[in-house]
Amino acid sequence: MLYIFDFDGLLVDTERIHYRAFMDVFTEFGLEIISFWKFCRLAHKDINHLRDYLFDKYKNYDVNINFDFDKLYTRKKERYGELINDINTNINMMPGATKTLQWCKMNGGTIIVVTNSSKEDVYQITKRHIILNQCVDHWITRDMYHKSKPDPECYHLCMKLYGDQETAIGFEDSIKGIQAMTKCGSITATGICLLDYPFYDEIFMMTGGMIYETFTDWLSQNVEKK
Ligand SMILES: [Mg+2]
Repeated sequence: MLYIFDFDGLLVDTERIHYRAFMDVFTEFGLEIISFWKFCRLAHKDINHLRDYLFDKYKNYDVNINFDFDKLYTRKKERYGELINDINTNINMMPGATKTLQWCKMNGGTIIVVTNSSKEDVYQITKRHIILNQCVDHWITRDMYHKSKPDPECYHLCMKLYGDQETAIGFEDSIKGIQAMTKCGSITATGICLLDYPFYDEIFMMTGGMIYETFTDWLSQNVEKK
């Protein structure tokens, strides 16, 4: 059995750090900060929604004269790197994630992480959480494929390299992740996300109701009751 996991926001609690990096850069650029859930709504499905929102909001302001979204996005990636490199930034495993990885391992499964994060960003986090290196057999990082999620390329690559007729169960926390996974076609997708998540209903539909708020819930309903 293959167990396939996304990384950010699914195994490790980094979505709030991505958000913080964006908001730090918003401040640098003189833009007003937005709430976390609003950010998810604007950035999680298609980053162009965030771009359109900002262009529209600031079209009549001076700030727009120098406002360049590509520059902002590049600076955000840099800021994110600074934050995860900083020992004062807390980076926790998501609830139940460690136990889930251990359970998959104990059951003889092959564990693969497929992520939009770069090899360098992944390294900064795995060095804090040894469990990840102990349990994960293979990593597919952003530098290994051309088009990021929601494009299914990363999952096609995963199945090409490791799929070999094995049954594959996959976990994702975001709408673009679920889109990439379901488009791939050979992975049974499960969503792990909170009810508050703006795309919860869409993920519910796309996974045929296979959605849990946390891995703790997934374990209690799929593993522990058996
Ligand atoms: Mg994610």
